Amino acid sequence: MSQRPIYLDNHATTAMDERVLEAMLPYFTEHFGNPSSINHLYGWEGEAAVKKARETIANGINCSPEEIVFTSGATEANNLAIKGIAEAYFSQGQHIITFQTEHNAVLDPCKYLESLGFEVTYLPVEKNGLIDLELLEKSIRPETILVSVMAANNEIGVLQPLKEIGKICQKKAVIFHSDAAQAIGKIHLDVKEMNIHLLSLTAHKIHGPKGIGALYVRRRNPRVNIAPQLHGGGQEKNIRSGTLYTPQIVGFGKTIELALEEIETESKRQSELRNRLQKQLLNIEGVYLNGHPTQRLPGNLNVSIEGVDGAALLLALQGIIALSSGSACTSTTTKPSHVLKALGHEDKLAYGSLRFGLGRFTTSQEIDIVSEKIIDSINSLRKSNINY
Ligand SMILES: *Cc1c(COP(=O)(O)O)cnc(C)c1O
Repeated sequence: MSQRPIYLDNHATTAMDERVLEAMLPYFTEHFGNPSSINHLYGWEGEAAVKKARETIANGINCSPEEIVFTSGATEANNLAIKGIAEAYFSQGQHIITFQTEHNAVLDPCKYLESLGFEVTYLPVEKNGLIDLELLEKSIRPETILVSVMAANNEIGVLQPLKEIGKICQKKAVIFHSDAAQAIGKIHLDVKEMNIHLLSLTAHKIHGPKGIGALYVRRRNPRVNIAPQLHGGGQEKNIRSGTLYTPQIVGFGKTIELALEEIETESKRQSELRNRLQKQLLNIEGVYLNGHPTQRLPGNLNVSIEGVDGAALLLALQGIIALSSGSACTSTTTKPSHVLKALGHEDKLAYGSLRFGLGRFTTSQEIDIVSEKIIDSINSLRKSNINY
């Protein structure tokens, strides 16, 4: 087999764990029944499998199983949360608060709502990527119906203080939604302790299948109403119609089970590898860390590199390492990242930047090869750049 590049783009997606695949396979073939078919064994088998997965996922975030609504992923969950709240609560107010470093799956539904007449405040973040809690509290008005803040950022890995945000939202009686696509299975999440009303989840960022996710919708203290965005057979308590995708749901359940079993050992292992890579890269002159130094996902590293074009660096590494630019490239083909822009390092925006995402299958040998290759590439690109 020819040598494939070392995969360090685990924030984009991950390799599915074989154990997840094994759990899913029977549900494509012999146990193919529709979980909504209540009159025969095939349906019961599907229903039992969905029930088990729903319980595992609910336990993982400390909610009850009936509060989990399966979706096609976090994009759909975010759309359902944001548009579903806007539609259900518009008579109480038409103002939404979110942050400039959110994923497009939050920003774009918000922009869409603006086109319908809602008002959205996109608050800035601190230079380290953390939100300013006081600014958030001051920005909540009587007509604010929703605050949406991601749990972990997909570029710089920054972990927002969910519990503190939850307290503010509780005090001000606004609904709190969090996009936890990058956080689920990697850090502790508890919707009760953190006073979260809506939480978006996905399986494929933690070695599960693509095309499956969920929205947690709180049903008591308070009961949160969501206007459905898909109408049809009335599945998922009428919130999300469509035949349940049993194999993906089973895979999602297994994904969460495995991730939570290994959460402590994996977060320790990945953060040690990440710290080693970080130390070696930051040793080079003109290499800077993006995002908070410690309040960050264990497998995340994002750096800006002075005197190097991001696209040129990625090209030099192409056959060796699969990763993505952060991306604040000077290259005309790459748009600057809205996340790095929001950090306000105007001076660094012209630098190349790299986003590393470590995963369950990242090894210590890989990290050694990666740091050596990157250091070599930076040095040779800088040498060939007469402007440096
Ligand atoms: C990947 C990601 C999404 C989109 O999730 P899908 O399941 O691929 O739709 C949303 N938000 C964040 C923060 C992500 O990292």
